[in-house]
Amino acid sequence: MNIILMGLPGAGKGTQASEIVKKFPIPHISTGDMFRKAIKDKTDLGKKAESYMDRGELVPDEVTVGIVKERISEDDAKKGFLLDGFPRTIDQAEALNSIMQELDREIDAVINIEVPEEELMNRLTGRRICEKCGTTYHLVFNPPKVEGVCDLDGGKLYQREDDNPETVANRLEVNVKQSKPIITYYQDKGVLRNIDGSRDIDEVTKDVINILENL
Ligand SMILES: [Zn+2]
Repeated sequence: MNIILMGLPGAGKGTQASEIVKKFPIPHISTGDMFRKAIKDKTDLGKKAESYMDRGELVPDEVTVGIVKERISEDDAKKGFLLDGFPRTIDQAEALNSIMQELDREIDAVINIEVPEEELMNRLTGRRICEKCGTTYHLVFNPPKVEGVCDLDGGKLYQREDDNPETVANRLEVNVKQSKPIITYYQDKGVLRNIDGSRDIDEVTKDVINILENL
């Protein structure tokens, strides 16, 4: 069961990933974790990646792809994996394709959690933080009892720079641009499975599990 998980920021990818690995014996492999592990284990590729990061440069594809290959060849991933945050470019998708061929495996499904951008804006701009104690609220999902005021200590709630509408809209736009060609790539390969992620989390999970159970 070799799965790729896709979705824009705020689509609920993290939640679905943890539900999937609870249900199926495959590791959740996120790009960030993978880099951290390779660097910690001081593998050749980890050292290479680190040297680019130390210089504040982008890690080149060949290094990233090498790290992915090492990771999905490990014992715990032999029966499958849930890849998250990779591939990000068509070059990477094609490299992954070659790796899979070398390993005599294939991508079984690309789960794409779709949520309209308007809804993502609501989700991502709703966070408010108490300036006194740092408690996090959400205007829709976890609102304070009194608007703008912390339930615990009466502190004033503020919005982080990262969560303001302009920043969020930019982040979404970048992600949409980046993911579109990847989605098309896997659609053409016939493995893309779109899931309506605007519903309750439980319903989304049910659909995801159902697809994976029937692969
Ligand atoms: Zn507070």
